[in-house]
Amino acid sequence: MSSVLVSGASIAGLCAAAQLADRGFTVTVVERAPALRRTGSPIDVRGEALNIAREMGILDQIYARRVVNSGREHFTTFVDHNGDPVAALPNSEASDSDEDIEIARDSLIDILHGLIADRVTFVYDESVVGVTESPDAVTVVFASGKVKPFDIVIGADGIHSSVRRAVFGPELNFRRHLGVYFSIVELPLGTSAHGESFTYNVPGLLAGITDFGSRTLGFLAFRSPEIEYDYHDLNAQKQLILDAFEGEHGWRVQELTDAVRNAPDLYFDSVSQVRMTTWSHERVVLVGDAAHAAALFSGRGTSLAMMGARALGEALVAPGAAELSSAYAAYEAAHRGHVLRAQEGVPEARDIMVPDTASALAERNLRFPLRAA
Ligand SMILES: Cc1cc2nc3c(=O)[nH]c(=O)nc-3n(C[C@H](O)[C@H](O)[C@H](O)COP(=O)(O)OP(=O)(O)OC[C@H]3O[C@@H](n4cnc5c(N)ncnc54)[C@H](O)[C@@H]3O)c2cc1C
Repeated sequence: MSSVLVSGASIAGLCAAAQLADRGFTVTVVERAPALRRTGSPIDVRGEALNIAREMGILDQIYARRVVNSGREHFTTFVDHNGDPVAALPNSEASDSDEDIEIARDSLIDILHGLIADRVTFVYDESVVGVTESPDAVTVVFASGKVKPFDIVIGADGIHSSVRRAVFGPELNFRRHLGVYFSIVELPLGTSAHGESFTYNVPGLLAGITDFGSRTLGFLAFRSPEIEYDYHDLNAQKQLILDAFEGEHGWRVQELTDAVRNAPDLYFDSVSQVRMTTWSHERVVLVGDAAHAAALFSGRGTSLAMMGARALGEALVAPGAAELSSAYAAYEAAHRGHVLRAQEGVPEARDIMVPDTASALAERNLRFPLRAA
């Protein structure tokens, strides 16, 4: 077992590539995008993921590039139609401990990529479209038409994973939409008070702006049942957001929808969890969101991706690992409990951030009064 294909060059894929390259595997990473994807808001490295970063030798870099949020008192301040504060979510509701490190997603991607760029082969603008497993190899058909055998294929290609679809079946057998779509758009730096975060809700909608010091991001989210659209079509994504906010003119919604209209790129996706009874099949195994997305409101997707990648790396070199089914069973046994705990609290976080009715919104504001710093 020596040649490994990793599909997806985000947190899970880069971590899996690093864990396996460190253990002597020959690793190729394919990424559908033409380059590493750099959008998104800062993400949290927390709990055991901090130890993993230390073991990987990147904790100091992560710490050095952390987001310093100027010590804001609250995770976010909820405002009304006019922008007047009405409630505030304490930091303690959103973090596990003071040890957590918040880092821009692109900074973490750069650090992980830098760790392995000279010993892992990266292929961009490429994607897995077919997988055939046999006792001796797993043969991969790529979108470019190339066909290549590998010993192991790792699907690290996110909640809409192609590897999962090719090997385990249709996405909707595993992905559970939690009733919210979420978008993140870059705003001009300084659009909002330094280090501050504001969130405006009307039932079923969220509009927010957070200044992260070196970057200001806008957030627009809306409640909706599952919508069918092309995940990769930026204009289709923009139209869904604009339709959801049509007629809403409170606070700074107009400014945010204008930013969406003009954005060269943005993050938009269903807030979903992925739940599977197994993450492996013969020579194919899933890591990160492809296997077990906990959903954006968990704040744990990145840490889980790092933890899963290490658990898989360890399992693949443990005694008896030549029997892949044993290695994969050990990976799942080590990691599944962490995933289930992270997935549990998400509906509550969703209801706090995007209340669906006027009474739920009023109750949320009463629960988190302004004085609770
Ligand atoms: C652009 C982007 C922005 C994000 N922003 C946020 C955010 O602001 N807040 C947050 O909490 N989470 C965000 N996430 C999700 C977060 O990165 C993950 O929840 C977590 O880090 C686990 O990562 P992952 O590597 O499993 O999946 P992901 O980060 O989703 O990465 C999957 C990777 O696979 C690639 N890919 C997809 N399909 C294929 C294919 N067929 N072939 C090859 N490659 C493929 C994608 O381009 C992507 O690079 C974002 C994800 C992306 C891709």
